[in-house]
Amino acid sequence: MALLVQKFGGTSVGSIERIRNVARRALASQRAGNDVVVIVSAMSGETNRLLGLAHGVTQVPDAREMDVIAATGEQVAAALLALAIHAEGGQARSLLGHQVKILTDGAFTKARIKTIEGSKIFETVKKGQIAVVAGFQGVDENGDITTLGRGGSDTTGVAVAAAIGASACEIYTDVDGVYTTDPNICPSARKIAKISYEEMLELASLGAKVLQIRSVEIAMKYGVPVHVRSSFSDAEGTWVTSEDKTLEDVVVAGVAYDKNEARVVVVGVEDKPGVVASLFGQIAEKNISVDMIIQSATSGRGQRADVTFTVAKTDLARARPFLEEIGKALGAKELRYDEEVVKVSIVGLGMRSHAGVAAKMFKLLADEGINIQAISTSEIKVSCLVAAKYTELAVRTLHEGFGLSKA
Ligand code: ADP
Ligand code: ASP
Ligand code: MG
Repeated sequence: MALLVQKFGGTSVGSIERIRNVARRALASQRAGNDVVVIVSAMSGETNRLLGLAHGVTQVPDAREMDVIAATGEQVAAALLALAIHAEGGQARSLLGHQVKILTDGAFTKARIKTIEGSKIFETVKKGQIAVVAGFQGVDENGDITTLGRGGSDTTGVAVAAAIGASACEIYTDVDGVYTTDPNICPSARKIAKISYEEMLELASLGAKVLQIRSVEIAMKYGVPVHVRSSFSDAEGTWVTSEDKTLEDVVVAGVAYDKNEARVVVVGVEDKPGVVASLFGQIAEKNISVDMIIQSATSGRGQRADVTFTVAKTDLARARPFLEEIGKALGAKELRYDEEVVKVSIVGLGMRSHAGVAAKMFKLLADEGINIQAISTSEIKVSCLVAAKYTELAVRTLHEGFGLSKA
């Protein structure tokens, strides 16, 4: 008898009919002889609706209260699924984050899981019930409700699987696996049968929202096999596992894009030691993460430089007032902001041993007349910031150019 964790995303529980479908799937797995733990997301659109309500009250809502609001989406979905399982003749019990005890740190809206107690879940499945755990939510040491960041139910799924020693974590979603790029914007994308944790980690961190990055980190750390598949078919999906010889031997495994970054240009700061250190030191103190950074020595005379960097769009409203302050203190002429940008990235383990991959990427974009505003690289990825209007063109061009498209 296996212990199985199945996570169903928002679209998969997006209507009562779909919740019934999930109930039937979970029961089928149980009747096949497994102990089943189901993790649910909020019904599709619900988390956005809830966050929208909070933003309707105030522009920068208090993070603790945001989590109290956002966690209700998963609470509702979990209870509805338990009811649907009852209606199908099965037994189930919903469990919220604080009931399982998914203990997190206190970083509201982006909390990290510290520990998960298995006892409530084991107790439930031992009685022959399906444990339906609300995804995305936890509780901190003060008993306050926390959430794990957008897409966080993936992380609940994998972390619960690791904590209870499940044989695998199935991620049921609206696509039938991990593709070479987002199939919703690139029709020639191909389903990948098997992908390494490392590549998946990069793809996830670069915007492929099919798995939340933290879920991949946990899967890699604890060796949890993850099977990404469709909740609407029985087709085999994508296995995310350790690097091995059966993985496709390619330079570029996938293309990702991320529209959640905004570009900030600090114009005309002094080009001397300590300025950049002071700028980013002060930004870090405010707990704002910076991603891409470029410094250009411009305008020749007077030795003034422009510093360009990107921050999460969701941090920009909060960051702007003190960015202005820091800029002023450093003698910047002005600060410019651009939210109409996208970061497109190529990812592949094969890059470690191949030269010229970045150059080829720049050439492919240049041939389409796409200007590159910032660049960042690591061992297995190259990212370029470009104007958001080029998102689809850039993704398709890179996908085609690196030979990923269907034959
Ligand atoms: P869920 O609600 O089930 O968690 P998400 O919307 O969070 O689903 O993630 C699934 C979506 O991820 C897909 O609909 C697809 O648009 C997007 N996506 C982005 N990149 C990829 C990729 N490389 N492979 C598959 N899906 C991707
Ligand atoms: N409901 C949350 C979100 O929309 C968590 C999740 O679906 O994974 O981000
Ligand atoms: Mg998701």
